[in-house]
Amino acid sequence: MEKDIKKDKQKKIKRGVIIFCIVVALAVSFGFFYDIFIEGGNPLQIISVGEGGAAGGEGPANLAPTSDDVVASEDIPDLTDDLAGDVEDPANTPEETAQNLSDISDTTKNETVYYDTPFIPEGGDETVQLVNKVCGVSKNYKPANLQLTKYRATDRAEANQYMVDYAANAMDAMIEAAMAEGYTVLVTTAYRSYNFQSTLYNNYVAKDGQAAADKYSARPGTSEHQTGLAADLTSATVNYKLTKDFGSTQEGQWLDAHAHEYGFILRYTSAGEPITGYMYEPWHFRYVGVENATYIHEKGITLEEFIAERY
Ligand SMILES: [Zn+2]
Repeated sequence: MEKDIKKDKQKKIKRGVIIFCIVVALAVSFGFFYDIFIEGGNPLQIISVGEGGAAGGEGPANLAPTSDDVVASEDIPDLTDDLAGDVEDPANTPEETAQNLSDISDTTKNETVYYDTPFIPEGGDETVQLVNKVCGVSKNYKPANLQLTKYRATDRAEANQYMVDYAANAMDAMIEAAMAEGYTVLVTTAYRSYNFQSTLYNNYVAKDGQAAADKYSARPGTSEHQTGLAADLTSATVNYKLTKDFGSTQEGQWLDAHAHEYGFILRYTSAGEPITGYMYEPWHFRYVGVENATYIHEKGITLEEFIAERY
């Protein structure tokens, strides 16, 4: 008798638990389908938002939280923690970037550290090597694997028209693409040795004085041309001169718009003048690889800012 009552009680409890589970399951699936079919939302969407945010870049515009998503956006930090193993380290904080930037490009210091080989930020590869007014390179440094570029201004010394092989190939490809559009551009000078730069700089100082020369010419050991990754380009439309007018020619504008597709950046922009310490040079292009060049081009920043932010 007692046993029967006990069994009956257990049955009732079991039934209760089953009914409870069914009610909960129905409620959860109603919420899930309500999200998908009534609101048109994707209940998994929050994970996409987390990935976009964690990458440190600007995620696609349609994933930006709207005012209705305020609660959802507050959940992102928890989700990004879970995803941390899958994403790259976020970019430096603005404070870190500012510190790095003053280390690598404070041109007001007017002193240069000369390295045996060009400065490469920790974690970077040689495409982001930096030679500027602050980071110099030894007079003995000459890059390996120099290769003569194909399309050259013939009134210049061939010895100064080499680039590191992969940059030379990219330069040839870029010029061929420009020619296919009807624009002819030529390399005036690319790799320049320390000694050549020294002669060049001293001539400019004799002509215009040191302060003026420092604005448009690098002191020996601080020229990007010594890396073999930079080249000056010109065209018939400016009589093969290196002039600011090149920037408003069709050739100069084509290069400005397309150089990044071949891994090059316009190295000295007007906006970047306070950072690089050089005036606008629409003719000077620097190889950094397609991915880096595209990022730098789209953000409108200098190589110094890119390195300070990224490394
Ligand atoms: Zn140049």
